[in-house]
Amino acid sequence: MRVAAASPGEQGPQPHPGSSGADFSHSGNAEPQLPVRRRRGELERLNEQIARELTERHGIEVYGFGMPGVDTGAVREIVTALDEMLAKYPHTRILSVEIGDVEGGIARAFEDRLPYTDIKATRIAFSKKYATDLARLSEDVSDAVRRGYFLPRSEGPVYSAIVHEFGHALTYAGRSDAVGRADSHLFDYYLRTYGNEHSGGDVTESYRNWRDQLSGYSFWKGDFHPIEALAEAFADVELNGDRASEPAQVLHKLLVDTAESEWRKEGLI
Ligand SMILES: [Zn+2]
Repeated sequence: MRVAAASPGEQGPQPHPGSSGADFSHSGNAEPQLPVRRRRGELERLNEQIARELTERHGIEVYGFGMPGVDTGAVREIVTALDEMLAKYPHTRILSVEIGDVEGGIARAFEDRLPYTDIKATRIAFSKKYATDLARLSEDVSDAVRRGYFLPRSEGPVYSAIVHEFGHALTYAGRSDAVGRADSHLFDYYLRTYGNEHSGGDVTESYRNWRDQLSGYSFWKGDFHPIEALAEAFADVELNGDRASEPAQVLHKLLVDTAESEWRKEGLI
């Protein structure tokens, strides 16, 4: 996820909470607030241990979690988000998660394949810049929410970013079938649902107004951007439930349907 768009070149992440200050629901480098001086490397070892447990539970490779300065709150949010998304969508293949360089964004998802197969899988990277500075992340994300670039979300920015990337993982799982269909699928839904209200009016314009309920990140230079719109819609529904917008609900369903169609072909469901 990028945080920018409104100001090109700006470096930014992509979460979305209604977060303010230290209000990260899943985070908390709580331990260091104790009046106890931690031994060198203690937090790094703790972060590595949390990451190792993620590997043990899901077979996900982890990289970079033991780097100095990585906030344990960020580590916990990444791991919790993956645990919770995989509990809901257990056939999604996440090969690895890395804390490292993410140019101009908070996190990114990369399409890959299971070794020696054509089965789609995903690698996720989370920005080291933000994993080591949650206050800056919170500020940048709050700013993006104010601009409408991200929708307000009920979870912390690290957690929200991972859920967005998980949306990309579902896109890949569905062989990106949802990408080419997203806009026409939305338009068909709109016509079926509201078409009668527009006899004589400009349907295209009213459709666009309805579609504009999606986050600003779902558009690029004014055009609908289906890849990000799908990930944004996925995150909106996963994080906000019934409060997510109607076009987000429609895209979320399309995304899950295309992934499930592949899992069905594989005999997984
Ligand atoms: Zn994205």
